[in-house]
Amino acid sequence: MSGMSDRPAPDDRAVPDPVAAGAEIQRRLGVKTSRDEPLGRFTTMRVGGPADLFAVVRNAFELRALVKHARARAIPFVLLGRGSNVVISDRGIRGLVIQARAEGWRIEGQRLIAEAGLHAVPNPLINITLQGRHDTYPKRRGITRIKELLERRSATQPTQQPSCGSVFRNPPHDFAARLIESCGLKGERIGNAQVSEKHANFIVNLGGAKAADIEALMRYVQSQVKQKHGVWLEPEVRIIGEFE
Ligand SMILES: Cc1cc2nc3c(=O)[nH]c(=O)nc-3n(C[C@H](O)[C@H](O)[C@H](O)COP(=O)(O)OP(=O)(O)OC[C@H]3O[C@@H](n4cnc5c(N)ncnc54)[C@H](O)[C@@H]3O)c2cc1C
Repeated sequence: MSGMSDRPAPDDRAVPDPVAAGAEIQRRLGVKTSRDEPLGRFTTMRVGGPADLFAVVRNAFELRALVKHARARAIPFVLLGRGSNVVISDRGIRGLVIQARAEGWRIEGQRLIAEAGLHAVPNPLINITLQGRHDTYPKRRGITRIKELLERRSATQPTQQPSCGSVFRNPPHDFAARLIESCGLKGERIGNAQVSEKHANFIVNLGGAKAADIEALMRYVQSQVKQKHGVWLEPEVRIIGEFE
């Protein structure tokens, strides 16, 4: 997590007067904001410095209104869902960060329809549905399939450690994990960022990793795979904020 020295000087800010901007958002839209909010706890990778201004929206109406408001005042903004596909820089994000924390979801056949920001379908709910006597056969099959996929995932991925899922896209006709593993990079570390020993296309935070470590490890993996296989791996994860 970034320290005080990572915080921007006041005249570096993309929102020149965050106090006034936050007060106006609350007054006009009824959405609370906070200043210099450390973003690491809003990401599954658990890294990221502060946002000048941070707001949580709970439905599409609030999201639309806040985006419109920010655009009208030329406030730069970044959208965040559950932060499971991002690495946010240690210096954080200049401007407004809007986190969508909608919680709605439903199951249609074998599909789960989720609103932006849904963290996880609570397991107890899956179980209660599974046991429901009135459910239709296709619905029960859908839920069983979801359970199977979740079980397979925890067997093959480091689900107990902070990560942002697959770091690189699969190149055509191959798998990023296979290429990385064949370079002997499983377990490779920079600082407290490590190429997962369970799944080579995951980078995990062993505790207290810096975003800069994760980004440096990504670049190292790219260079090693390029050198050995002639393939440049494109990131799947979104890198947000300023990096050296
Ligand atoms: C353990 C683990 C396993 C994963 N497995 C998979 C997998 O199997 N398949 C897969 O596809 N992904 C996987 N992911 C990656 C990730 O969960 C998905 O990509 C997910 O859809 C990202 O949603 P999010 O809300 O967390 O997005 P965030 O990480 O919050 O944001 C990702 C990007 O989308 C933008 N964004 C966020 N919300 C909005 C919005 N409302 N409107 C416009 N832009 C927005 C952000 O600015 C950012 O650029 C995995 C991640 C983890 C941690």
